[in-house]
Order: sequence, then C-alpha cells, then structure tokens
Amino acid sequence: MTEIIDARGDLAGSWDVVIVGGGNAALVSALSAHDHGARVLLLERAPKAMRGGNSRHTRNIRCVHDSGDEFNSGPYLFDELWNDLCGVGTGPSDAELAEFTVRESASVPGWMSAHGARWQRPLHGTLHLGRTNRFFLGGGKALVNTYYRALARRGITVRYETTVTDFQIDGDRCTGLVVEADGLRQRVSARTVICAAGGFEANLAWLQQYWGEAANNYHIRGTEFNDGIVLRRLLDSGARTAGQERGFHAVAVDARSPRFDGGIATRLDSIPFGVVLNRDGRRFYDEGEDIWPKRYAIWGRNIAEQPDQIAYCCWDDKVDELFLPPMYGSYRADTIEDLAAKMGLYPVTATATIDEYNRAAPAEGTFDPTRPDGLATTGLTVSKSNWAQRLDTPPFRGVVARPGITFTYLGVAVDRSARVQRIGQSPFANVFAAGEIMSGNILSSGYLAGFGMTIGTVWGRVAGQEAARHALG
Ligand SMILES: Cc1cc2nc3c(=O)[nH]c(=O)nc-3n(C[C@H](O)[C@H](O)[C@H](O)COP(=O)(O)OP(=O)(O)OC[C@H]3O[C@@H](n4cnc5c(N)ncnc54)[C@H](O)[C@@H]3O)c2cc1C
Repeated sequence: MTEIIDARGDLAGSWDVVIVGGGNAALVSALSAHDHGARVLLLERAPKAMRGGNSRHTRNIRCVHDSGDEFNSGPYLFDELWNDLCGVGTGPSDAELAEFTVRESASVPGWMSAHGARWQRPLHGTLHLGRTNRFFLGGGKALVNTYYRALARRGITVRYETTVTDFQIDGDRCTGLVVEADGLRQRVSARTVICAAGGFEANLAWLQQYWGEAANNYHIRGTEFNDGIVLRRLLDSGARTAGQERGFHAVAVDARSPRFDGGIATRLDSIPFGVVLNRDGRRFYDEGEDIWPKRYAIWGRNIAEQPDQIAYCCWDDKVDELFLPPMYGSYRADTIEDLAAKMGLYPVTATATIDEYNRAAPAEGTFDPTRPDGLATTGLTVSKSNWAQRLDTPPFRGVVARPGITFTYLGVAVDRSARVQRIGQSPFANVFAAGEIMSGNILSSGYLAGFGMTIGTVWGRVAGQEAARHALG
C-alpha cells in the first residue's frame, strides 16, 4: 500500500474543515465549525462501535459556575478553579491559555446542553466531585453518541476506520492529508485541518523511549487507537511541543484488567485505608498522605517506579465497605501470610512488613474516613499519615495493581486561536489542534479530575470557529 491516490467516494471533495479524530474534542470542533458555516469532514480511525476515543470512558466535566443547581451541589467560582489548577503539579504550562480555559469553562455546560448533552445528579463515589463537576447522563458514551447524532442531523460526513497517517505540508500550510481507508492510501484535500487525535498513551514503543522496558507492564485505560501518529507527524513537520515528554496521568488499576480500554471500572480505590507493598513485600509510599481525590492520580506513577511495576494493596475486613470494590473481586484469607501467598507475594516478608506497620500504627485515636484524621504511624521510614489503622480484622483482603495510564501530556503548542505553532517560524496557517493533543499547553503535570473534557470542549469550540473563519474568510 505505497501509492497515494486522490481521495475516492465520500472522502473526495473540497472540505472547508477536516477533523482528525472522533472523541470529544473532534466532535465539539465539528459542531463548532459547522455552527460557523463550514463544510466539515470528520475522520475517525476506530470502527463505529468503538468510536469516541477516551471520551467515551468519561463521566463528568469541571466548569466554573456561580451557584449550585440541580446538577451541582454548590458554586465553584473562577478563583477557586484557577487555584485548584495552579495547585496541581507545577501549575499551568501557559498561564494565559490556562486562564482562558478556566474563564471559558463557565459557558461550556450551556453550550453542551444546546448541542444535545444531558446531565444527571452527582454520583456518589470515592472522588466527591458533586460540587465542582457536572455529570453526563449515561456517561461519556452517551455524550459522544449524542454528538454523533447531532452531526448526522446536520449532514456532516463522518468516516470510520479511516486513519490519518501523514500531512502534506507546503511552507506554513497543510495542503492535504494522507489517509488509510478501504485498503488504500488516499489524499484528502482540505482548506483547514483540526487535529484532535488524542495523546500517544497507547503507543508502548513511544512510552518506552522515556520509561524503558517498564512500559511493557503498563495498562492503557483508554482506546488503543491513540497511538500518537498524528502528533508524531506534526512534530516531524516542525510543530513546537508543549508539555512534558514523560508526563502522564496514571492511576492504580487491577492487574487483571485488559491491556487496553479497561475504562473507569478497573481503578483501585482501597489504597488510603490499607497498605501497599511492592514486589519485595515492602511499603514504598505514604498511603494516607491526603484525601483520595487529591492523591489517586499519583499512584499509577508510584507503582510505575517500583520493581516490575507491580504492587499489592492489602486491607482488612473493617474497612472493606469504605470504597468502591475492585471490579474483579479481591483475594481473601484469614491470615496475612495466606493472603500474600494467594497474591503471589513472598509471605514471610509481607507478614514482617505488616507486623512492623501494625506496631507503628496508633493504639488510640478516632478513625474518620471522611477527612484526614491524623491517625499516623510513628517510627517507620515510610510513614502513613492518616487512616493508619492496624490490619487486624480478618478476613484480610488484597488486590494486585499495575500502573494504568490515562493519557500523556506531551503535545503541540497552540496560540489563543488554537493554531499549531512551529519551531522558530510563524505558526501553521491552517492547522489547528484541540483536546488531549494540546493539553500540555494547559497542564504541565498533575491533573484535576474532569478537566480533560473541559480542555477538549473549550478548545474544540475555538478550533472549530477559527478553522471555519480561516477557510471561509
Ligand atoms: C478511563 C478514563 C476515564 C476518564 N474520565 C474522565 C472524566 O470523567 N472527565 C474528564 O474530563 N476526563 C476524563 N478522562 C480523560 C478524557 O478521556 C480525555 O481528557 C478526553 O477524552 C480527551 O478527548 P480527545 O477528544 O482529545 O481525545 P479522545 O477522546 O481520546 O479521542 C481521540 C480520537 O482520535 C482518534 N484517532 C487517533 N489517531 C487517529 C488517526 N491517526 N486518524 C484518525 N483518528 C485518530 C481516536 O480513534 C479517537 O476517536 C478519562 C480518561 C480515561 C481513559
């Protein structure tokens, strides 16, 4: 399949805006470009049944709002969201673009509702997001289906199983896209292009460049289609990067979960109320450092840095109902020794570690799972700062964990109009980006739950509008 032919069938034609990708950022870009009068073609690599990228796994979006309503339990003002964003990792990569994102988020729920989105009351769960985040009725899958239906009603052409593999660049312009579809390499022409093809988290070879062989033990929580080929081609064409190369969002997932696309349900939430051991049966990080919503996203990396990228989360019967249970169930035993053996840990070291932990846990004090309770260990090299109860109530339970990569941060730099920037030259005139592929402009490291969808929606709107304006102007 080497020869590139002119596009055939519904790929042929002169498109004002061609959108690469089929998740939230792509769909919002398509609706926005169409709202601004453009003829739009959307190219989704996945088959129809798997359309929607990582966006179909999402549940909520984080936006500024002045007051509570049926769907948010209270106000969440600009300053608070801004401070929350500044408090994660090393703060925003580009303060101006980040501030714009936060400001624009206020109009996002209204825009989404006007384009068909429906909402549901806050879900109870481990992350307590009911005030700050708005939940999609039926989750991200329902949201992307709604947007695809809106595209169909408008007569926007959507092509599935169509992979963009290259860009044809002349100076600062993209003159065409090379796509693989129907077993052919075809050249699609476009006045403007919006790249909304997600991160590169599903590309294990690329992850290996930064993480070595360890990457082979990572699980990818989202779609296997996000292999970063579009990002790679943009970088090869001179695009400037934004975001850290090694940056990724990763949580602890059940080691039994599928290698790709396990979604939300494989996450493990027992950590703050138990202890976590590494391959050698040792504790390695403070399980009770802070409340879970502020710490769940560091555990993927914590485990990634351990030998063999594996960890063993253990707890006892008295805390078993305090968190969402692991979806495949937990290992159970009446002694720590037997539990360790069942999970594949060397029982002698595991038992010694937990005995040592139990001796260091306070004999007195009131355990309170709803807030940092100050029940801390004393005298351990790796302390546990809160919820440090002894593991003394059988049956003991455990689950084996792996790093679950949610998305990567490295992307392309954009300006206020979502135009992709080039190294040492003027920006591309007609190439725009939205969503995860440019989230490194906003997030340096660290993450705020629900902000991925905010970035995709805010910047999808901008990219759609600016691309349409450029194409039609
Ligand atoms: C399990 C899980 C839960 C999450 N929960 C939330 C949440 O509740 N709230 C939140 O804000 N964020 C959440 N996130 C993060 C969120 O999914 C992302 O921030 C967001 O979906 C990114 O949207 P996107 O459109 O940029 O990328 P995606 O939705 O991943 O879409 C990328 C699209 O590009 C397509 N594509 C890739 N390569 C090509 C190519 N070469 N040619 C054509 N198409 C291509 C893919 O098939 C896909 O359709 C979650 C992520 C995961 C994995």
